[in-house]
Amino acid sequence: MSDTRNTADQTRKGSNFTAYKSGALKDWPNHSVELPGLGKVAGKHFLKDMAGFTGCEISVNSLPPGAGMPFYHQHKENEEIYVFIEGKGQMQVDGETIDVEEGSIVRIGTKGERTWRNNSNQPLRYIVIQMRENSLRQYGLGDGVVLEKKVAWPN
Ligand code: ZN
Repeated sequence: MSDTRNTADQTRKGSNFTAYKSGALKDWPNHSVELPGLGKVAGKHFLKDMAGFTGCEISVNSLPPGAGMPFYHQHKENEEIYVFIEGKGQMQVDGETIDVEEGSIVRIGTKGERTWRNNSNQPLRYIVIQMRENSLRQYGLGDGVVLEKKVAWPN
């Protein structure tokens, strides 16, 4: 897959971080990705290679009013979490329709036959997180380690 954006001034790296600017929500439709068999898909931007994720893939997405995925898909080993941050639409999983809107979060297991659409008159914007199903061992506060160090800022 390839991406059309120039990332030269959008990525900053340190020894323990990568910071990447994916653009304002209103600019997300300008992203595009080349997908095998589907050609150029507008409004989708994969972030793993941009930001150096090592345990998941995340994409930012914008679907225009009236648009929908023209196919169903499943996954081989990754579950997906769809986080809707703007607009309204519908997901369909295994024949069940789920209304989604800003704030809706939908987790889909590997075998779920999924598709989705924007049946509203506003853009539908969402983030998709893809990670190996059943891989989580520790999480939240259970994985954090608070350091004995006073917080200081350079200025
Ligand atoms: Zn998927």
